[in-house]
Amino acid sequence: MHQERVFEPDCLLKSHSNNKVCFPIAFISLLTQATDLQQVLDIAAEWVDTIIPCDRVSVAIPENTHQLKVFAFHGNKAIPLDMLIPIENSFVGRVFQTQKLTICDHVQQSLEIDCTLLSSHGLSCCMDAPLINNGICYGTLNIAHKEGAFYNEQHAALLQSIASWLALNIALHTQAQRMEQLASIDDLTRVPNRRKFMNTIENKFKNYKATGKGFYVAILDLDNFKLLNDNHGHDAGDLMLVKSADVAKFVIGKQDFLARIGGEEFAFIIERDSWAEVVEAMEAVRYSIASLKVEHNNQPIGITTSIGVTHVRPQDATFGETIVRADQALYVAKERGRNCVELL
Ligand code: GH3
Ligand code: MG
Ligand code: MG
Repeated sequence: MHQERVFEPDCLLKSHSNNKVCFPIAFISLLTQATDLQQVLDIAAEWVDTIIPCDRVSVAIPENTHQLKVFAFHGNKAIPLDMLIPIENSFVGRVFQTQKLTICDHVQQSLEIDCTLLSSHGLSCCMDAPLINNGICYGTLNIAHKEGAFYNEQHAALLQSIASWLALNIALHTQAQRMEQLASIDDLTRVPNRRKFMNTIENKFKNYKATGKGFYVAILDLDNFKLLNDNHGHDAGDLMLVKSADVAKFVIGKQDFLARIGGEEFAFIIERDSWAEVVEAMEAVRYSIASLKVEHNNQPIGITTSIGVTHVRPQDATFGETIVRADQALYVAKERGRNCVELL
């Protein structure tokens, strides 16, 4: 077995807790200007060599259950950006799985794929630290040096402190993403909610004003839904809302946007080439929901929908005016006797 040294991150940081980490002010200045996680990782990768001597730095994060991906790197191009590294049979994969900082003193003695790549590009030793925060390992931070057996325990403590701080960044970023997602999804139907619809239409409208690229808005309302609730109960109504959303989402497909914007109201933002295509899509949604039978207390329940459709117009000063016109079309559909698509 070639020479390796393994450290448990918490013990390592504790036993070197009085050591100092020294970094350039320019590094902190750049970090404070970062707007997303990728930038934080890129800046960290670029500046690690001002804190610990090294010829190569990389950050690897899991791409799936069996591969890590190089997300950020600096220096020697032994393992390029975006390269996928198998978790089994690689040095970084082993550090990711064991969650222990490991120093490999002579990479040419290792048979692991990443060590072989480092060695073939003139590097002699490497050290890899797990990115751990609150017991979760988000990836690893790896550095390599041209000189063999270059790294000591002090270097290890430094690298682990940077890795732990990077892990905190990733954890906070992941949390923020999850919160943003939760705040955009309707709890009952799992389609985007009114807030997400408003953000989306605002962006589409701005883009329309800037580039002229238009879009259609459709509002769908379940017919006599109060009656369904009264006759079959609120649970049956809820089930009907979920199934109707599922059907609408399936029929329109991924290219169009669907949101639940009110109790029994849904809105679509549709980017297609012609009115004919949009009418065909909305008729398909209307027909499919009308054909739907939901089982409740061993009883099949059905529902129909009314849909109002409009296209954004040059004279629309705000997207609110576009929405009002779709609502007016919906009102006409209700007046005409429901279970139909009306255009305005
Ligand atoms: P119309 O065809 O004119 O739209 O008649 P409607 O009965 O569908 O319309 P109305 O606005 O009178 O009633 C809407 C009903 O939708 C009343 C409300 O209790 C029900 N509703 C709103 N949100 C929910 C929900 O989340 N679950 C259930 N089960 N019912 C809901
Ligand atoms: Mg209704
Ligand atoms: Mg309604």
